[in-house]
Amino acid sequence: MKKRNLALSLLATSVLAGCAASNNNAPAWEHDKSYDITIIHTNDNHGNFWQNGNGELGMAARATLVKQIREEVEKAGGSVLLLSGGDINTGVPESDLQDAEPDFLGMNMIGYDAMAVGNHEFDNPLDVLAKQVEWANFPFLAANIYQDGKRMFAPYKIFEKQGVKIAVIGLTTEDTAKIGNPEFIAQVDFTDPKEEAKKVIAELKRDHNPDVIIAATHMGHYADGNHGSNAPGDVLLARYLNEGDLDMIVGGHSQEPVCMEGENQYADFKPGDECKPDVQNGTTIVQAHEWGNT
Ligand SMILES: [Zn+2]
Repeated sequence: MKKRNLALSLLATSVLAGCAASNNNAPAWEHDKSYDITIIHTNDNHGNFWQNGNGELGMAARATLVKQIREEVEKAGGSVLLLSGGDINTGVPESDLQDAEPDFLGMNMIGYDAMAVGNHEFDNPLDVLAKQVEWANFPFLAANIYQDGKRMFAPYKIFEKQGVKIAVIGLTTEDTAKIGNPEFIAQVDFTDPKEEAKKVIAELKRDHNPDVIIAATHMGHYADGNHGSNAPGDVLLARYLNEGDLDMIVGGHSQEPVCMEGENQYADFKPGDECKPDVQNGTTIVQAHEWGNT
């Protein structure tokens, strides 16, 4: 196993006191104290549950690395949140032929907290997707996918870590309507994720007053928002919202290591290098290449 090749993007976020809180919804954290909450994230697994022909990657190696990070963080008094930017399905026959069951069971064992729904989750009939939701012991999140006028998935989930309330919203590219299997998505609507994010953030602030809001997205990262023929991605999402409405976007879909150099330029990133995430309109944007790799 080549640990360096595996890697998940890792970001330690210090959550500082200072968020406005109404009296009837007082925060459980203490002022003037920092809390270390480490977000571990992967995206675009695409059936890579076992090692490839080069002996790289695979979920057993990913589990080892996540366990190590978890132990280190927890020993230092911090907490971990493990998120996926979606597209668990499609890419390796051994996974495809089993409807990605090994991948979802592996994610359970690694301890994922939530995932964004990716376009490739619609490569199979909807009853397969429903089965996958059952297999997973973590939520599939998508605020902008509807069937018969109702959301197919929970729009968000709220986590509490050391008294810090963290809301995670799921968003999926509206390109899924074009690139998903038409046989399976005829009855499914993919609405504008930017609009849904705005609505859900307002709802979260009104009803839950979270300290941190993260979007787990499957929309793609395009430098400076130049999305070409693709639907707008994470950069335009961050710019569309009020500054800092989202603390972080954990993305997927474009399968880039989102490591920046200068303004709106991708760095020539190699595994093991330091990675500087993108920051747009007060929102930190991360994405960890693909397959559990960086
Ligand atoms: Zn995708």
